[in-house]
Amino acid sequence: MKVTKLQSIKKTGSYAQRLTELYGAKVFSDRAMRKYLAPEVFTSLKRTLREGCPLDPALAQAIAEGMKDWAIDQGATHYTHWFQPLSNITAGKHDAFLEPTSDGESILKFSPKALFKGEPDASSFPSGGLRATFEARGYTTWDPTSPAFVRDGTLYIPTAFCAYTGEALDQKTPLLRSMEAINTQSLRLLRLLGNTTTHRVLPTVGAEQEYFLIDRALYEQRLDLKICGRTLLGARPPKGQELDDHYCGRIRLRVSDFMHALDEQLWALGVPAKTKHNEAAPAQHELAPMFDSVNIACDHNQLTMELLRVIAKQKGLACLLHEKPFADINGSGKHNNYSLSTDDGQNLLSPSTDPVQNRQFLLVLAAFIQAVDQYGDLLRASAACAGNDYRLGGNEAPPTIISIFLGERLTESLLEAAKGSTSPTHQIQLLNTGVSTLPDLEKDDSDRNRTSPLAFTGNKFEFRMLGSSQSIALTNVVLNTALAEVFSRFSDRLEQAADRDAEIGAIIAEVVAAHGRVIYNGNNYSHVWVEEAKRRGLPVLSSSIEAFDSLIAPKNIALFEKHGVLSAVECHSRHEIMLENYTKLINIEAATMIEMVRRQIQPAVMHYAGRIAHTVNEMRTAGSCSDSIVRILETLTALTDQIDSELNALREAYARSQSLEDVHEHAEYMYHTIRRCMGSLRTSCDAAERIVDSESWPIPTYTDLLLRV
Ligand code: ADP
Ligand code: MG
Repeated sequence: MKVTKLQSIKKTGSYAQRLTELYGAKVFSDRAMRKYLAPEVFTSLKRTLREGCPLDPALAQAIAEGMKDWAIDQGATHYTHWFQPLSNITAGKHDAFLEPTSDGESILKFSPKALFKGEPDASSFPSGGLRATFEARGYTTWDPTSPAFVRDGTLYIPTAFCAYTGEALDQKTPLLRSMEAINTQSLRLLRLLGNTTTHRVLPTVGAEQEYFLIDRALYEQRLDLKICGRTLLGARPPKGQELDDHYCGRIRLRVSDFMHALDEQLWALGVPAKTKHNEAAPAQHELAPMFDSVNIACDHNQLTMELLRVIAKQKGLACLLHEKPFADINGSGKHNNYSLSTDDGQNLLSPSTDPVQNRQFLLVLAAFIQAVDQYGDLLRASAACAGNDYRLGGNEAPPTIISIFLGERLTESLLEAAKGSTSPTHQIQLLNTGVSTLPDLEKDDSDRNRTSPLAFTGNKFEFRMLGSSQSIALTNVVLNTALAEVFSRFSDRLEQAADRDAEIGAIIAEVVAAHGRVIYNGNNYSHVWVEEAKRRGLPVLSSSIEAFDSLIAPKNIALFEKHGVLSAVECHSRHEIMLENYTKLINIEAATMIEMVRRQIQPAVMHYAGRIAHTVNEMRTAGSCSDSIVRILETLTALTDQIDSELNALREAYARSQSLEDVHEHAEYMYHTIRRCMGSLRTSCDAAERIVDSESWPIPTYTDLLLRV
């Protein structure tokens, strides 16, 4: 096995020292900036980052020079503006630092303009109609709040991407705008609560990432995995996850080797990968970083997803980030842990034993509840994508109904506060195991609820609906903006109130009465909850298509416009892109399935049926033919016909779908009709897989894929 970077440095110096030096080694971090920038330039840049004020243009030259020198010392030959278009991937065009001069020599050049502004062709990225109206030109702009880094010999400069007229064409721009909105409204509210020390409020996010790892050679043998990232066919294996023997079990050596290599690269890029473990399904794993400001967390999650794929390939593995790679086996999500932190060290979602602080906490909590009740449809939309439609509501992932889990104790405190009580929420309770040699442990305020889409977990909310392949940006755009709106309404009231304490009590009481319906502490996976949610009037948005429409609901456009996060035009363009992406993905799945069934499954089944028929003939000639083999032949013949007719049905539906011009109608057709046809065809193919001789089955089975790493 190849010696990893860390293993080799283990031999040469203090391991602890090397390990800490590795962290952030490829990032234009404070350490690097101090070395490559003059002190006054460094101080000014840091102020911009800390206080969110614009960068002094006079310093641009020095910053560009310093960044270039540092990057070249890290082995970079190129630089790229790195951005996140609305296609769920990251993009960039790489330019060399080297520039020829007129005398036939060359210089290494990186101008401030190259740092600040790039001009990729916007027409080649999804724009949802914006490009037709506003032509092709697009710009990328340096986002100094997310650090630049060097990867594969290129300096990556995080940037925002917008059209010629300023409309956002990416994930980052609205995220940054929403961070400004929540900062403004949080500060306004905090001042009204008597806080004079805080200058900045930042949303913090820790994004836990689930993924599958399978053997690369097997992956290469399946067109569905290579093209769609999920299995379109495959009979249920004899052993799935029923024994619960994978979750947090021993990490197999090959996986462990992969995880070590991944950690090293993530750490070098400043991604604080912290926790790793086996997840519930066989071959499923999870990685959780330490939380960071939401913009950085979002960039880091994109990098993590890329590195997961790249390093898996290097290690002879394939990483599947699809939300539901295997039927009947748990799918993968991404848990978005969210809180609000102040620059003077407060977590606004932390309960407190101090009554005044705790009153602030309860008010923020009430705002969260109101925001989620009023804009839950948008949160649901942020978790909508073709892959998640196979996962959500499947007894393993939250249902498609947004609700909040607070836990009994916190719910009680909130109800008490609504009645005017000011007693603290947080009381320390000890856990007694009944074993005298074991120390008593401090208990959390609430038990865990794994079934809730949005669970309060002590000092943050965990949104568990997001799909594993999705960007976390939109979820946090929604959380930031919806909270900013409710904070602003609370502030409007507190500004008018003669007695602010009484007004806070009144606000909490009103939130509990009007929005308490969104709190649910029970089992979200049960049918009882679906009925209960409908009775409470909560939206049940089962399909992604329904969920996408939330983006253009007038109340939601008004919300985004009011806080300067998305314009009506941008909302409509995003809505259209989401529908188009959905349609394209299912379209690709259908085409892949047609090809696999026609060219691999049908020939295998027919060939095997032919062999059985031949045996039947031979046995008959020999004068003894068993009934059982005749029955197998009959079953195979019936399945051959069934597969053929279902394949034809899918092909016809597919052909019909190509003529649908209305984006919405097209997406609906894919959701209902095409997926139904694919489901029926799969059932027949999977039935054939259970009969056909394993030697003759043309693609690796679920058992091969899930158990051979
Ligand atoms: P749990 O056991 O409840 O899942 P963990 O402490 O393991 O909680 O954290 C899960 C994720 O939540 C990690 O990524 C962690 O960094 C993140 N997290 C912890 N505190 C915060 C916070 N204040 N804001 C955002 N994310 C946080
Ligand atoms: Mg979690």
